Amino acid sequence: MSPRRKRTVDLVIPVFNEAGVLIPMHARLRAVVDALPYQFTFIYVDDGSSDNTEADLKAIAKSDPRVRVLALSRNFGHQAALTAGLDASEGDVVISLDADGQHPPEMIPQMLELIAQGYDIVQTQRLDNVQQGRFKRLTSAWFYRILNVISGTRILPGAADFRAMSRRAVNALKSMPEYHRFLRGMVSWMGFKTAILPYHEQQRTAGVSKYSPGKMIRLAMDAIFSFSLAPLYIGLSLGGLFFLLALFEAAYVLYFWITGQTSHLAPGWSSLMFMLLIIGGFLMVVLGFIGVYVGYIFQEVKRRPIYIVKSDSAEEKE
Ligand code: UDP
Ligand code: MG
Repeated sequence: MSPRRKRTVDLVIPVFNEAGVLIPMHARLRAVVDALPYQFTFIYVDDGSSDNTEADLKAIAKSDPRVRVLALSRNFGHQAALTAGLDASEGDVVISLDADGQHPPEMIPQMLELIAQGYDIVQTQRLDNVQQGRFKRLTSAWFYRILNVISGTRILPGAADFRAMSRRAVNALKSMPEYHRFLRGMVSWMGFKTAILPYHEQQRTAGVSKYSPGKMIRLAMDAIFSFSLAPLYIGLSLGGLFFLLALFEAAYVLYFWITGQTSHLAPGWSSLMFMLLIIGGFLMVVLGFIGVYVGYIFQEVKRRPIYIVKSDSAEEKE
């Protein structure tokens, strides 16, 4: 890099129905970045919004030539929208953050400072927060605990999709084309020198969470089934256990037959039923796990794109 060129930084901001928060958010971002000696580009990814988001983004782009708006053809989800922004980015450093103000942009100078010191990834970590509902706090804590036990990749509890990455880290991430994406896990899987910055999550500026319970469950499933084969091993080891139990039972019954004490064998209908139910239930659960993996494999081999870009303001300018 020539020393005369200012280092470039891209801010990737996924947006889904955030009309109302965007204009104050952009002003807040400007207040932070305009004081910094970098050349910034704002990449807003409109993830198929159906409210006034499009108009707000147009107004922002009009007022600030550094703004690039990428519109996806429908709602593909937060992780896909982030991926679209990372793929479009060209900056020396890329920072992703939410549009709703929960990721304090005031931390950006510190993140860039750490990247300048030679870290490839600056990962923020959400600290426990009283404002956050008890339910979300508990489910999140348990989720990370289980995930860390069953996956080989260490995933930081409370890791947010608020992080800075060097160009080479972004390029490494771009080389991972998987369809089911849990970016926090993928980033941690990559390695690289990582700094962890704790932060207190702030209140949403306006609007409500765009993570419906369904979307949260899908994200948790993507994390578990793409980072761990443990559910398959649970099936395998339970299967082995039942096989051993069956062998033991056969030997037991055989013993009575050989010693001619068949009258001792009680007509154990209830115990038989019990075993049948347990084994039947267990087989169905394992079949379900296998089904999920087959489904995931199916979706991977189709090689569909992770998102589809409907329009890119950078192309319209040319
Ligand atoms: N988001 C998105 N697509 C979605 C859901 C959310 O691009 O399908 C964006 C949303 O606009 C926000 C960020 O992802 O900028 C995080 O979402 P949200 O704040 O709703 O999640 P929460 O903070 O409640 O976990
Ligand atoms: Mg939020």
